[in-house]
Amino acid sequence: MLNIVLFGPPGAGKGTQSERLIEKYGLKHLSTGDIFRYNMSNNTELGVLAKSFIEKGQLVPDEVTINMLKDQVLQNKDAKGFIFDGFPRTNAQAEALDNLLQDLNTEISVMLALEVEENELKDRLMKRAEVSGRADDADPAIIANRIEVYRKETEPVKSFYQAQDKFVGIDGIGSIDDITARLDKAISSL
Ligand code: AMP
Repeated sequence: MLNIVLFGPPGAGKGTQSERLIEKYGLKHLSTGDIFRYNMSNNTELGVLAKSFIEKGQLVPDEVTINMLKDQVLQNKDAKGFIFDGFPRTNAQAEALDNLLQDLNTEISVMLALEVEENELKDRLMKRAEVSGRADDADPAIIANRIEVYRKETEPVKSFYQAQDKFVGIDGIGSIDDITARLDKAISSL
């Protein structure tokens, strides 16, 4: 199985690049943000709970997020592999993912981390808000909070994969095609 963690701050291009990679490698795309938004638009219990955190730019609690992700992986056990997009966002999530994959006799192949500097992220998110309709993209205070949460809680997850020698940094500035080519190169040298 090819199991990729596509990592990076909000606005780094994880969703866009995931779409490219699932097509090319036939992987199952699991975006925790997308799954939360689907639940929010259907007003499920999970959606109502998630909304209260997402609209403040905070992380949804680990237990809720991990259980949701586990269900999705188990429902897609026969996939050729997974792209995890927006997960893991804490070390506890990374540990839970390792344990889950171990139970399925597989593991994370690589963490590909898109690197984009802060001002560029803010610009991209404000532009995305015009088409995404996402309230959390449109408000500068929420954006700033998401970036701060990323720096404090999520960036340390890099070390988790560095310790396993699975971390690869990817320059996330340039055209969409250029960035896909960098990701492809990293995947083909695995
Ligand atoms: P995203 O679409 O990945 O930017 O996620 C949108 C929002 O969903 C985030 O700002 C968080 O509030 C929540 N979220 C998504 N993935 C996770 C996760 N792995 N852990 C906790 N919260 C998450």
